[in-house]
Amino acid sequence: MSGQKRDKVLLNEMAAPLLAWYQEHKRSLPWRDDPSPYHVWISEIMLQQTRVEAVKGYYSRFLTELPDIEALAAVPEEKLLKLWEGLGYYNRARNLQKAAGKIVAAYDGKMPSDYDEIISLPGIGAYTAGAIASIAFGQPVAAVDGNVLRVFARYLADPTDISDEGLKKRRKAEIEQMIPKDHPGIFNQALMDLGAMICLPNGEPKCAECPLRKKCVAHKEGRTAELPVKAAKAKRRIEEKTVFVIQYQDKVLIRKRPGKGLLAGLYELPAAQGYLERKDALVYVEELGFQPLHIEKLPDSKHIFSHLEWHMRGYLVRADELARKAGAWQSDENCRLETPGSIDVNYPIPSAFAAYAPYIRKREEDADPV
Ligand code: SF4
Repeated sequence: MSGQKRDKVLLNEMAAPLLAWYQEHKRSLPWRDDPSPYHVWISEIMLQQTRVEAVKGYYSRFLTELPDIEALAAVPEEKLLKLWEGLGYYNRARNLQKAAGKIVAAYDGKMPSDYDEIISLPGIGAYTAGAIASIAFGQPVAAVDGNVLRVFARYLADPTDISDEGLKKRRKAEIEQMIPKDHPGIFNQALMDLGAMICLPNGEPKCAECPLRKKCVAHKEGRTAELPVKAAKAKRRIEEKTVFVIQYQDKVLIRKRPGKGLLAGLYELPAAQGYLERKDALVYVEELGFQPLHIEKLPDSKHIFSHLEWHMRGYLVRADELARKAGAWQSDENCRLETPGSIDVNYPIPSAFAAYAPYIRKREEDADPV
């Protein structure tokens, strides 16, 4: 049998055992008691970044305050954000309200039942639209998320990278071919529960308890630990820097960052690329136009951005301005000498420099002579 034919047979054999298992083992979740479009929608948005157990409390509090789409559309933003407090990613709450406003204006306050109309609402992606359409409206639409991709990758022993967007579309189409037309919402919820309780990530599926084990190819071939395949996230680039707190009279040198890119337009402590030893650190300070009088090595520190890590070494330098030549800092319009008080009020230093900010106020008698 060709791979494609085999997969088709396997897919057609999936629904019956899954639905039978679900009837006995489904999770009891508050939004399942009355799966109205509003309830499914709110619960799915809350579940996007938060564990089921944590969502339960937020969900009932939210529903008590905002029992329907009209109430959500009309609530003052401040109150909405307060209800969302602790769930994080506040844009999700703002989008809920935007979508509620649209539903009130365009659909008389009722969630549309058409998948394309649901997915066109703010903050609703393919997974959430699929969940609403299938669970609340009984439409044969798939809801494909990471759990579903993992179950299918193992069941079919498919080595395709599950972060591949094309695969997501392919799975959606496959599921929509075989989803039971009379129970699409139950099928999707059964898959959700299987992924959450049995076909667990990180090589720890509970195959002995799984209703799909008789057909599951990864289980039969002992390949559950190697599936699903997921491309490793790109490693963060590491930048090494030497950060300077240069004190001159009662002021400290700061520098404005470029208007584009990381920490755009914010002020920072001057920094050299790479780790400078004390001797080279002194040269750097002289080239800026200051005569170092005292220098003190500061603790190393690290700051993590999403794609980048700064690994920093620091020096506190007490300096005099060199008399014999104008320093680089004077010809650089982005550099300025400011008192610690002025920096506090007018030039907030990004938290990436938090380890060195306290030294802006430290006085010269604490530093070692050069
Ligand atoms: Fe996942 Fe194991 Fe079930 Fe296969 S048999 S779907 S690997 S839990």
